[in-house]
Amino acid sequence: MLKVAKFGGSSLADAAQLRKVKDIIDRDPSRTCIVVSAPGKRFSGDHKITDLLYLCEAHLKYGVSFDDIYEMICARYLEIRNDLGLSLDLESEFDELRRDMRHGLSRDDIVSRGEYFSARLMASFLGYEFIDAKLWLTFNLDGTIDTEKSYELLRIAAEGRKVVIPGFYGVMPDGHIRLMDRGGSDITGALAAAALDADVYENWTDVSGILMADPRIVPNAKTISRVTYSELRELSYIGAQVLHEASIFPVRRKNIPLNIRNTNDPDHAGTMIQESFDDEPVNDPGFITGLAGRKGFSIITITKSGMSSKVDSLRRIVEIFEKYNVTISYAPTGIDCFSAVVENQQLDSRKYAVLAELQKELKPDDITVTEQIAVFAVVGRRMVSRSGSSARIFEVLGANGINIRMISQGPEELNIIIGVKESDFNPAIRVIYENFVD
Ligand code: ASP
Repeated sequence: MLKVAKFGGSSLADAAQLRKVKDIIDRDPSRTCIVVSAPGKRFSGDHKITDLLYLCEAHLKYGVSFDDIYEMICARYLEIRNDLGLSLDLESEFDELRRDMRHGLSRDDIVSRGEYFSARLMASFLGYEFIDAKLWLTFNLDGTIDTEKSYELLRIAAEGRKVVIPGFYGVMPDGHIRLMDRGGSDITGALAAAALDADVYENWTDVSGILMADPRIVPNAKTISRVTYSELRELSYIGAQVLHEASIFPVRRKNIPLNIRNTNDPDHAGTMIQESFDDEPVNDPGFITGLAGRKGFSIITITKSGMSSKVDSLRRIVEIFEKYNVTISYAPTGIDCFSAVVENQQLDSRKYAVLAELQKELKPDDITVTEQIAVFAVVGRRMVSRSGSSARIFEVLGANGINIRMISQGPEELNIIIGVKESDFNPAIRVIYENFVD
């Protein structure tokens, strides 16, 4: 058994958090590969080390002294080191870095030091070996990751060892350090898990997994205990704030389960994400895995009698949206009408141009725009085996006076997508949760 465990910034914010991390690792000897973020906020109003490093770089760029911010950064690490009683000599490295920064280091060089020092400290605290990300995580020239090379290098470096790896950066073929997008340590963790063929990729954060609904709408929303990769994709596509796609892809491809856990509540099993679950209880009464959605959509409906018998109508409509770079998120159709559900963010500046062109090209009987639409998905792999799932959902919405403006359901029956007026969004989520989640 081999587990790759990634710890986020809040799990490394101070010495007390590092102690929690060590406890978690000590409990399970199969946690042999640890990936860390830079120290995050200790309290609201505090600063993440990564943000401070970006700020240093901005000061340098404009020729403003960065000394005060740099001191803050160094002090955070030194406090953790001293608190934990470690003997790591960080001072000389900090002095050297300051000198190098004055002589011109790239933004990526500077910001990557957040994760680098975090990993050095953690390795020293755990008595694990430190493996620098630049020794294995290799980018291609186009910024994608050279997974084959990276996996091979990590396998060689980590073979039979207990290691700590900094997240968030890697190396270009010419040896320059390159950062990933913000939050990239999740990706490093997933790549490490895939490289080492881990049995599980644990992502330790400050929440006990993914919630079944947005807690701002359903305050006591339960944690999703099991979710498939496909369900998760549906939930995040429509609005759930979960992991970045790129941090799921490497483990999903290798069929490695991903477990989201809480450093501050390590006994909670969190959320387990897998390709499928073979041991599902047959009589599980709950058919909903989660609910997610968001406001800010419009529905453009084009009606023209005889439209359905014309082979090219749909293509001509879609081409107009494509021309103006407006993605059609959902496309419910009727016999002689076609509706495009689109995001206002994309539509707003191009709305009249799109409408004018639709009018000119298609000469429809009518075009209407319904604004202030919210779209949400009721996601559940167990819906497929239950007849009447959608009927029950619609019945509950109807009984609560919520008018459905759009419905879309894929043939794989993983989700039911529902559009309602924005003002009905929160009540809709609430009544579905209350009626179907016990
Ligand atoms: N420290 C980086 C950030 O704040 C990367 C990470 O935490 O994953 O975005």
